[in-house]
Amino acid sequence: MRYLEQLLDQFSGTPTNIIVKADTLRRGIRLTEDLHVAGAAACTTGLTSKADGLLGEARPVPSQFHFSADDTTVDIRGEDESPYQIDRDEDGRHQLRCSGESLGEVYFTPRPTYMDRQTSDGKSCADYLVQRGPSCLFIDVINFCAYVKKGEACHYCLLGPLMEAKLQQGLTRPVSDFKMVAEAVAIACEELDLRDLKLCGGGLYNTRQEARLHIECLEAILTRIEAPEEITILSQALVKEDQQRLKDLGATNVCFDMEVWNEDLWPKLLPGKAKAVGRKEWLSRLEDAVDVFGRGHVGTNFVAGFECAPRPGFLSRDEAFKSYSSGFGELIARGIVPWFTVWTANPLVGGFTAADPPPTEFYLQLGLVVHELLEKHGVYPDLGFDSLGVDPETLGLYCYYCYSMQFTRDYPRLIGRELPAKEKDERKAESAV
Ligand code: SF4
Repeated sequence: MRYLEQLLDQFSGTPTNIIVKADTLRRGIRLTEDLHVAGAAACTTGLTSKADGLLGEARPVPSQFHFSADDTTVDIRGEDESPYQIDRDEDGRHQLRCSGESLGEVYFTPRPTYMDRQTSDGKSCADYLVQRGPSCLFIDVINFCAYVKKGEACHYCLLGPLMEAKLQQGLTRPVSDFKMVAEAVAIACEELDLRDLKLCGGGLYNTRQEARLHIECLEAILTRIEAPEEITILSQALVKEDQQRLKDLGATNVCFDMEVWNEDLWPKLLPGKAKAVGRKEWLSRLEDAVDVFGRGHVGTNFVAGFECAPRPGFLSRDEAFKSYSSGFGELIARGIVPWFTVWTANPLVGGFTAADPPPTEFYLQLGLVVHELLEKHGVYPDLGFDSLGVDPETLGLYCYYCYSMQFTRDYPRLIGRELPAKEKDERKAESAV
C-alpha cells in the first residue's frame, strides 16, 4: 500500500483509478479463491484468460474487472507476489484491495450464454470469439504468426509462441474457418449488443495476403449480421489499396502496431516486421491510413518499457522516455494516435524477469505525455470526446472496455469527471472528520 500511496502523492493531478489501474497492470493481481469462484459466472474469453488456459492455469478467472464507480476496466493478470487482490464481501459484492485496504467496489462482465452454444461444426462459440467488456468482440483471423517458425518473431511477443503451441496441440487451424466465425458471431449477437467488432491475428510476410484474409473474414461476417457502428482492423501495416477495400466493406478504424519506436532497435527487436514491411514504410502506410479512414481512426500501439529492458544493446530508461515522447509527438502531429501497453515480462519469452520492466511511475509519466499531446493537438474530439470527464459516445479506437491492458484511454473520460453521489458523500464525510 505504501508504494501506491507514493504514486497517489506523486501523481496527485491524475485520477485515482488511472493510477490504480496502471499499478495493477504493472504488478498483476493475486488469484484468490473468491476470484476463481467469480470466474465461473464471468466472461472468461479474454486474451489473458486464454493464455492462462494454455499455460496450465486450470480454473478460470474473469478476463477483466470493472470499477463500479466509473466502469474503468482492467485486465486481470495473475501474479503471486502482487499486493492486489479481489475479495467477495458478505453481501456478495467484490472489492479490489491493496494490502488488505479497499480501493472500491468492482464487478465482472457476466458469462455470456453463447459460450455454451456450438456452431454447426460442433465447436464452442468461445473457440472463435474473444469477448472483452459488454459490447465488443475480437475475432482471430489468422491463428499463427509466420515469424515464429523462422525465428523472426517480435522479441517481447508471447502471443506468437502461444498460437504456435495451440496449433501444435491441434486446438486450432492456421486460418480460421470464416463461415464458422460468422456463424459464431451471429449466435453471439442474439444476446450481445455488438457495438465494436475487432479483427486481429498473427502476421504474415506477405501483407497483401494478410489483408486478403481480413477482407474475406469481414465479408463472411457481414453476410450474417448488420455492420456494427465500429469495425476495427488490427493487423500489420497494409498497403493503401487494401486499406480502401476494407473501408469500402465497412471498416471504420485500423491499428497498425509499431510496438517499438527507436529506429536502431526496430529491426533488431522486430526482425519479421522489418523484413516484411520496414519501419519507414510502416510509417508511410500509417499516414496513408489517415487519408483513408480520417483523423481519430488510425492508431498504433507500443510495448512501452521494452526498449529499455536492462540488457546490453537496449536504451537506458531516460533515453527510452525521451525517444517515446518525441515519437508520440511526431505521430500525433501526423494524425496517428499512439498508445502503449504496460510491458510485463513473461518467463517464457526472452528470459526476462518480473523485475525487468520499468516501475509504474515510468508508465504514469508516459501516460501524461500522451494525454497532454492529444489535448494540445486537439485530437480528443476526433476520438469522440466533445468534452472531458464523460465516456465517449462511440467506442472505436477509444473503447475503454476492450483495451483494458492499457490506461491512456481513461484520461479523457476520468479527468474532470463527476463522482457518483454515494462516493461524493463518503469523501465529504471523510473531509469533515
Ligand atoms: S507480428 Fe510480432 S507481435 Fe504480432 S504475433 Fe507475430 S511476433 Fe507477435
